[in-house]
Amino acid sequence: MKPETLLQKEDALLIVDVQNDFMPGGALPVPEGDRIVPVLNRWIEAARRAGAWVIASRDWHPRFHVSFREQGGPWPEHCVQDTPGAAFHPGLALGPETIVVSKGTRFDRDAYSAFQDTGLEVFLRTRGVRRLWIGGLAQDVCVLHTVLDACRHGFETHWIRDATRPVSAESGPKAEKDMARAGARAVDTA
Ligand SMILES: [Zn+2]
Repeated sequence: MKPETLLQKEDALLIVDVQNDFMPGGALPVPEGDRIVPVLNRWIEAARRAGAWVIASRDWHPRFHVSFREQGGPWPEHCVQDTPGAAFHPGLALGPETIVVSKGTRFDRDAYSAFQDTGLEVFLRTRGVRRLWIGGLAQDVCVLHTVLDACRHGFETHWIRDATRPVSAESGPKAEKDMARAGARAVDTA
């Protein structure tokens, strides 16, 4: 499906955690994570033309975050605030109109979903947004939880299959099933 024909004014394109640390060679790499960047750029351009919102979430941890292995968490240290690893991929064509949502900023709690502890739902509601188009990283972690929350909050939720990649090939199909069960629709970019 062509993003140019799908996106409408008052939709939101929600780009999840397209940050250097999640790219091949980064601290917590997602295989082929960089491949989604040109796909997302097409969606960004289409959103801009349609007058839709462009929202980019970022994993934005303080040092000594609870999710890091040194603190007993499951992940290597990643996306520490203001480090190069936490920056958006330099090829991602985010303009000044982009709304940036920082998540995982609490020392004592992790956040996989862009909705968790961010107030994003209220932002979208007060602007009349009802439809979401979601891509980014990783399909089986933060995209999954963002999509599930979007469905739970009652948004018409679409996730863009070729604009995301899973951390692990095993959990990707399971995440896909979970998103379908929650009512999200998958879309492929033409
Ligand atoms: Zn994190």
